[in-house]
Amino acid sequence: MKKNLVIAIDGYSSCGKSTLAKALAKKLGFIYVDSGAMYRAVTLYFLRNNVDISNDAKVADALQHIELNFHSRDYESHITLNGEEVSDEIRLMPVSENVSEVSAHKIVRHEMVKQQQRMGKLKNIVMDGRDIGTTVFPDAPVKFFMTADPKIRAERRFKELESKGNNETTLEEVFENLAHRDYADTTRKESPLVRADDAIILDNTDLTQEEQLAFALEKVNPFLVH
Ligand code: C5P
Repeated sequence: MKKNLVIAIDGYSSCGKSTLAKALAKKLGFIYVDSGAMYRAVTLYFLRNNVDISNDAKVADALQHIELNFHSRDYESHITLNGEEVSDEIRLMPVSENVSEVSAHKIVRHEMVKQQQRMGKLKNIVMDGRDIGTTVFPDAPVKFFMTADPKIRAERRFKELESKGNNETTLEEVFENLAHRDYADTTRKESPLVRADDAIILDNTDLTQEEQLAFALEKVNPFLVH
């Protein structure tokens, strides 16, 4: 039987990982999995239910009550939390401000990684996140590590929030949040954000979406079964 292919994309916050992952999935007919959405949905549940993350037993218990599912429409990934569509709410600031602390929790990571590995067992997938090429799929044949100028990243995320009707958050707040999440993600104890030795660096500060897709496809092409 033909083995399925996993494409792993890691990198800093808001540097276009999901844009590239979606474009690759669409072009190749793969399934796109947004692992950050899973940590965001868990964070939303913890916020709504006042889960104390300093209490391991409470965290473990809360995770038992969380069911996450992806529904893909036009390669946009939609996530449900216990049956409720939360794709928009998880992008708002209350979740962005708390997700790095929740995602640094050992028990949370353990559970999410287990679910992510299950998703990559049978299907061709593109998964983006922070630890996909290092921890979730260390054997993935194609890995990208994405980066871009922090100011450009903040502007992109700000525009995305604006286009969704949010006008409460300023550009400075978005910039601060990205800096905070980058710091927390790269310095945490549990699977911090680091480039896997075999990951291809993709700095898209000056690249158009078409150019970065072309770059990535060239790297993926040798691994496709034609
Ligand atoms: O990708 P996104 O920015 O939506 O991810 C939100 C947060 O989830 C990140 O800042 C990071 O703390 C966490 N995350 C993670 N591991 C992943 C994906 C996301 O720790 N694989």
